[in-house]
Amino acid sequence: MRDFEYLEPTTVAEACAMLKRYGGEARPYAGGAYLSIVMRQGLLQPKALVNIKKIDALQGIRVDPKEGLIIGALTTHRELETSKIAREKFPVFAHVERDVANIRVRNVGTIGGNLASGEPLTDLAQVFMTLDARVAIVGTAKSRTIPIEELFLDFYHTSLGDDEILTHVIVPPLPPRSGVEYIRFSSSSVVDKPCVGVCVRLTLGNNEALSTVRVALGCVAPTPLRARRAEEILSGKRFSAEIMEQAAAAAAEECSPTSDLRGSERFKRGIVRVMVRRAAEAARERAVKLT
Ligand SMILES: Cc1cc2nc3c(=O)[nH]c(=O)nc-3n(C[C@H](O)[C@H](O)[C@H](O)COP(=O)(O)OP(=O)(O)OC[C@H]3O[C@@H](n4cnc5c(N)ncnc54)[C@H](O)[C@@H]3O)c2cc1C
Repeated sequence: MRDFEYLEPTTVAEACAMLKRYGGEARPYAGGAYLSIVMRQGLLQPKALVNIKKIDALQGIRVDPKEGLIIGALTTHRELETSKIAREKFPVFAHVERDVANIRVRNVGTIGGNLASGEPLTDLAQVFMTLDARVAIVGTAKSRTIPIEELFLDFYHTSLGDDEILTHVIVPPLPPRSGVEYIRFSSSSVVDKPCVGVCVRLTLGNNEALSTVRVALGCVAPTPLRARRAEEILSGKRFSAEIMEQAAAAAAEECSPTSDLRGSERFKRGIVRVMVRRAAEAARERAVKLT
């Protein structure tokens, strides 16, 4: 591994200034679950690591009465899994986190690092997408808040600038009569990264029609994506086996998986089709129970 400078800012402004000074040759360092691997493999050789772990403003999970659930970038997977506040508002997080990696990675890996790495084989992005989450980003020149979809540009490539820090994720409150379900398919072992991850959020409106529908797919394209055609097919409709099948088939068409050790392209499209249907059925059951 090449030598690098090690820096320890205590504020976000200080961290951004340090990153700027190295003009793209420095990286924020959070839990190191991803960085330690790519640096050891020589895939990334930054001149400096800016350890952001001592920045208090990036810690913790809290509820803002207007904005919803605020998840600090340094929140670890394990903290999100076991957080009482998160579980009360969004039980789906505990459900998702239980299957993320293994306890060692969950104890060190952060939510900010999970999103900022732009890794395609992950679980949380698609869940956040169905919840209409936004991410807050701070740089030396400006701060911005963007829908989470706009964070992901390509394989391992995000819209974060060289001097920017992802500070927190904002998850707005869900409307009443909403159900969310995440289903992950892993092809080899329980600690493996997901092969396909599907999240569906449904909100029931008048006459039991689906007033809001979100379908997000992970691991089956260079970035996590919203299956917008599937959403259109379901929106405003009453739930039926036929309409579900149409939406599931559309989602399988909308993604662009590649064949690899986890399965062929055709296999993954088949999994998407089955899982979208199952996730939608489960999300609807949850929404009905809340009525
Ligand atoms: C064995 C293994 C199994 C895994 N399995 C899963 C899985 O099943 N599901 C899943 O979702 N994920 C999985 N992951 C991914 C894991 O969740 C992430 O690697 C981890 O969360 C990254 O967080 P970190 O804090 O360690 O990031 P780091 O390694 O510190 O950083 C990751 C990247 O993000 C940047 N970064 C970190 N924080 C910020 C920030 N706040 N602002 C801007 N940039 C930042 C860093 O510069 C770096 O480029 C797995 C990882 C491993 C190693």
